[in-house]
Amino acid sequence: MSKKWKYKDIDKWGPGRHEPGGTIPESGTAEDYKTGGWRTERPVRDQEKCNDCMICFFACPDSAIRVENGKLVDIDLGHCKGCGICAQVCPRDAIKMEDETRARKEEEKV
Ligand code: SF4
Ligand code: SF4
Repeated sequence: MSKKWKYKDIDKWGPGRHEPGGTIPESGTAEDYKTGGWRTERPVRDQEKCNDCMICFFACPDSAIRVENGKLVDIDLGHCKGCGICAQVCPRDAIKMEDETRARKEEEKV
């Protein structure tokens, strides 16, 4: 039996109000929660090598490979957890995993 959650004030909940294992108040909310923050490596795609075969798109467990009109357009780093599966399955060696801390430092310089 499903349980209806009232969670408008969830930010004020202390640890005692959460269910063991966490609270998922409704379905279909994964997009709303950025879960890539604890990634230690990030995938970086070489556009020259990529032929948009979409193997990485189907293999990514977090649906973090973004596709538009049959082309790989982006990797959603807000949701990518850095598992490296995309780099492993790519037949053209077009994705390299790079150190996340170093990548963030480089971004800060720009
Ligand atoms: S590293 Fe993992 S989560 Fe991130 S895009 Fe690749 S397959 Fe998806
Ligand atoms: S698996 Fe490799 S070649 Fe295929 S779409 Fe992904 S990055 Fe491009």
